[in-house]
Amino acid sequence: MEECIFCKIAAGTIPAEKIYENEHVFVINDINPETPVHVLIITKKHIESLNALEGDEGENLFKEIFKAVKVVAKKLNVKEFKTLINTGKSAGQTVFHLHAHILGYK
Ligand code: 5GP
Ligand code: ZN
Repeated sequence: MEECIFCKIAAGTIPAEKIYENEHVFVINDINPETPVHVLIITKKHIESLNALEGDEGENLFKEIFKAVKVVAKKLNVKEFKTLINTGKSAGQTVFHLHAHILGYK
């Protein structure tokens, strides 16, 4: 996925500080934060959106995303936050590589 910004960050072609990383996902600060803490949980695999997440693999990855949300919120000491996944252009998705936002208020 040559043109995908999150694939480039995953591959290290574009440098970004990884706040957290495991086999399935990595986490970076949003470049344009909307709340005091705004991070992105990004799948390592290129999946276009939640609509493309299917089958057992999809279910497992969905679980991994939310496990990471909890781990990272705790790590960043954020107790009150929104979790957001935009799916599709009209819903506000701008990067077509699956990710969840943590919008936190410290
Ligand atoms: P979406 O609108 O697709 O749900 O969320 C995409 C998010 O990615 C936006 O909040 C945007 O600020 C963020 N973003 C876009 N490009 C970059 C980038 O190159 N680096 C980082 N850290 N965040 C990015
Ligand atoms: Zn990608």
